[in-house]
Amino acid sequence: MIPIAKPLIGEEEKNAVASVLSSGTIAQGPKVKDFEEAFAKYIGAKRAVAASNGTTALHLALIASGVGPGDEVITTPFSFIATANSILYCGAKPVFADVNENSFNLDPEKVREKITKKTKAIMPVHLYGNPCEMREFQKIAHDNSLALVEDACQAHGAEYSGKKAGSFGAGCFSFYPTKNMTTSEGGMIATNDDAVADKCVMLRQHGSTKRYFHDELGYNYRMTDIAAAIGIEQLKKLESFNSARIATAAYYDSQFKGVRGIETPFVEKGCRHVFHQYTLRVTPDAKVSRDEFAEKLGALGVGTGIYYPLPIHLQPLYKKLGYEDCLPVSEKLAKEAISIPVHPAVSTKERETVARAVLKALE
Ligand SMILES: *Cc1c(COP(=O)(O)O)cnc(C)c1O
Repeated sequence: MIPIAKPLIGEEEKNAVASVLSSGTIAQGPKVKDFEEAFAKYIGAKRAVAASNGTTALHLALIASGVGPGDEVITTPFSFIATANSILYCGAKPVFADVNENSFNLDPEKVREKITKKTKAIMPVHLYGNPCEMREFQKIAHDNSLALVEDACQAHGAEYSGKKAGSFGAGCFSFYPTKNMTTSEGGMIATNDDAVADKCVMLRQHGSTKRYFHDELGYNYRMTDIAAAIGIEQLKKLESFNSARIATAAYYDSQFKGVRGIETPFVEKGCRHVFHQYTLRVTPDAKVSRDEFAEKLGALGVGTGIYYPLPIHLQPLYKKLGYEDCLPVSEKLAKEAISIPVHPAVSTKERETVARAVLKALE
């Protein structure tokens, strides 16, 4: 089976971890600092603050951006649950706006319609590694005095108009093993705002700037030096990982062009999509349903992923919270989306196997 995701860990990462284990400093220490500096430089942000995972990075970024109880944060329902849950952790209310059918990303026009007096922030997600329309979101944030928190957990190295995803607002990243780069578990907040960065540093350390003196309710959201050592090596490889993803995506595009029953990913002009996922839409004119298509691909040795089968506003948790939104584009895409292997461990031979299987499964 060609898996839908596979982390690539080499001798460099193994040696780096071994050296941290021998150093005696195995929790947060100098490696975390080195990783933060290297990551900030890569993203083109003034500061980067490491966290224990992408979810805690989002939580920290939201609090540091001033989001608290009673506030509303506008985000997408078509994402991983962590996006919206991080808003709930703040005692704030996620307000869902629908997505654009082509990009799968939050639609700026729909966001504008959801702004109220309680809105404190907007949180676009660069889904599958495809950058959002950041010019629009920056304008909305600016015009309405809202904080801009980017969920860039799937978009390490993606670019919008020459700038990296995660460098427009408080940019949050995840280093979970399936992402474009990994630290095992890990996360990061990138920002140009020193006040936001300082606040994240304080909150991840139980709200203290001086040891055993606590100004605010904080958390233990620290990254370990073991994780950071992996991250430093992975960051050096990120460009080659992303290039491999982009090349495989271009190959798939060439094979699936004009094929009836599927739509290939849309990339806006001037954007760099880094293909955390290569996601097809199985459209109503296909001879098979999306789920039959997935089953057939599995039988042909090709792993697939459905991201996401149920939009967040329809999740049992959110139903219980009283959400009754109707967000037709997200609901439709949840029935059509299917991702095929595009990670850098997919060989040239394997991608040919995948493409053949896709065409066969549509018959
Ligand atoms: C992975 C992911 C997260 C959460 O990251 P973790 O490191 O798993 O906590 C948040 N948002 C999106 C869009 C993600 O893909």
